[in-house]
Amino acid sequence: MTRRGLLLILSSPSGAGKSTLSRMLMEWDPTMRFSVSATTRPPRPGETDGREYYFRSRDDFQSMVAAGDMLEHAEVFGNLYGSPRGPVEAAMKAGRDTVFDIDWQGGQQIKQSMRDDVVSIFILPPSIAELERRLRGRGQDSDEVIAGRMAKSRDEISHWAEYDFVLVNTDLDATFEDLKTIVQGQRLRRDRQPALSEFVRGLNEEFAAR
Ligand code: ADP
Ligand code: 5GP
Repeated sequence: MTRRGLLLILSSPSGAGKSTLSRMLMEWDPTMRFSVSATTRPPRPGETDGREYYFRSRDDFQSMVAAGDMLEHAEVFGNLYGSPRGPVEAAMKAGRDTVFDIDWQGGQQIKQSMRDDVVSIFILPPSIAELERRLRGRGQDSDEVIAGRMAKSRDEISHWAEYDFVLVNTDLDATFEDLKTIVQGQRLRRDRQPALSEFVRGLNEEFAAR
């Protein structure tokens, strides 16, 4: 039975685990689509254009915004980030869920334009000390970049109450179990299953034919 595709928004302070959790979601259900954002930030070691992000110049990014090609966009840590619109609309039409790893500003913008299709989830770290350990453990950023991300964390965390669901990512496997529970529950909502009326009409016809 076809259903509307969900827009699953994952936000958290940097290092709390949202990229890891979104990768796990995609492995669990390969029909889910990750919304690959465009950004003006330079690639980190191991990142590939078109996989983690579309790495673009400021000019190219701004042209995409001007052309209306971004579902949302925001400045984070001095770089521009945005979610390209086309692939999201295509996935929704096909009944496929889209996962967004975006900040609170992007989350707010998508909620404003597509409220009924959005499920928003905020991920909190178990402590600030652990958040910093995870950022350092990732081994991808300089001390200066890490200090900047830690400073921004307080601001990101201040938006936790704007989200539908909040997960404290202490144990990764336990958090992932909770995340799957949310997705499974949201997929079953009546308003996300437009084919149900037709299905129940069939049941009634079967009654009538008895
Ligand atoms: P974000 O996408 O929110 O910036 P990441 O998913 O990159 O965060 O996670 C940051 C680091 O923390 C990664 O090295 C990841 O493997 C690790 N990590 C994520 N969740 C946990 C957890 N529950 N326990 C320990 N380490 C974790
Ligand atoms: P990073 O540079 O660590 O990959 O991402 C930095 C921050 O930008 C994270 O909080 C991430 O969620 C956010 N981000 C990534 N892509 C987008 C996007 O397309 N839009 C918005 N608003 N934020 C994004």
